[in-house]
Amino acid sequence: MSEPLSVYIHVPFCLKKCSYCDFYSIGTLSFLPAYVASLQREIQIRTGQSIRPGLVDRVGRVPQRVTTIYFGGGTPSLLPLEDVKKILATLHTCYQVAGDAEITFEVNPGTVDQGYLSGLKSLGVNRLSIGVQSFDPYKIKVLSRIHTIEASIEAIEATKSAGFDNIGLDLIYGTPGETLATWRQDLHMVLGFKVAHLSCYMLTLEPGTPLHAQYKRGLFQSPGSGILTDFFMETSTFLEQHGYDHYEISNFARGVQNRSRHNSAYWQMTPYDGFGPAAHSFGSLNDKGPGVRDPGRVSPVRSWNVADVKAYIQALSAGKLPVHEREVLSLPQQVLERVMLGLRTSDGIDITAVDKMTGQDFLTRFAPLVDRLERQGLGVVLTSPGKRFLLTLSGRARLDSIVEAFADKIL
Ligand code: SF4
Repeated sequence: MSEPLSVYIHVPFCLKKCSYCDFYSIGTLSFLPAYVASLQREIQIRTGQSIRPGLVDRVGRVPQRVTTIYFGGGTPSLLPLEDVKKILATLHTCYQVAGDAEITFEVNPGTVDQGYLSGLKSLGVNRLSIGVQSFDPYKIKVLSRIHTIEASIEAIEATKSAGFDNIGLDLIYGTPGETLATWRQDLHMVLGFKVAHLSCYMLTLEPGTPLHAQYKRGLFQSPGSGILTDFFMETSTFLEQHGYDHYEISNFARGVQNRSRHNSAYWQMTPYDGFGPAAHSFGSLNDKGPGVRDPGRVSPVRSWNVADVKAYIQALSAGKLPVHEREVLSLPQQVLERVMLGLRTSDGIDITAVDKMTGQDFLTRFAPLVDRLERQGLGVVLTSPGKRFLLTLSGRARLDSIVEAFADKIL
């Protein structure tokens, strides 16, 4: 059986750009029909369009088994249901989609109603991620989201009425003017919805965004790192007390079964195919092109598509793949990524996997650093189940500096 794979579909359309966002998306829907046709073409080209589930094509490749599919953006919920149906049908034709595959769809309040959500369910979507961001009208205004608090509440209720039980909410903290007291109100509010998953992201001021420009003009002050650490610690403690497992630096789940399987695949560095403008792919690829895997080649390769809808459509209409760049990861880069991603999660770094990758003993190589982190109560080595090094909550609050300390020794 082929190696399990995750698939990411980037839907690069938004009704309006939010003030903090640097994801690739555009504010017009005029390219949407051509985008959907190009996306289907990209999937067909990269997988070998003659392949059908269970069959082997002329060059001996078998369709890859897909265990997670994620529609992200942008605003996937701007896609008409008919287009979602076409995209899923193409994926089912070109891959072997597992019967129990996790199929997630990002939804923005203000763009969906119950009919749309029921439609997604009937198409096989079984997990929704709703971008509510906050229940504080002032924060929503600062972030320039398109929706109201009422629309967020309606969207959550509608997803439940449509029969979804695997629902995640996205929240943001650390916005200009926000205090711990107002953030606590957001946390109390989300508890009431009893959803399976919560993502709590710390706001970052990305250069090129309107919020960053306002900051540069001195219109607000960035909360200091001390207060942001307080937000982080309080979020973790509060949600853990209320039944959510803090399994990744920004992610919380009600039990292991409700963790995001798709994002966990990223953190475990398993292969994924990304489609759409600006989408990234990762895997051991050969020179036949992205998406064509060569079991004989072990170097992981990351590739990413052009971040321009028009150029994406033009490339595919000319029968070319819209790849912007590819990068073969060196061994030190692979080790650093594994360490960095492992430190983000409550499962920690899989020491046995890193030992196998490097041929060296992790605990010997990093002994002074690991000892220091243990002494300071920031990290711990566990031997069961499996040999792992993981950060405590205080360690995770200092993630960036700890990753830097490992990077100094790896690169
Ligand atoms: S809806 Fe999401 S992707 Fe679109 S601009 Fe806002 S944050 Fe960015």
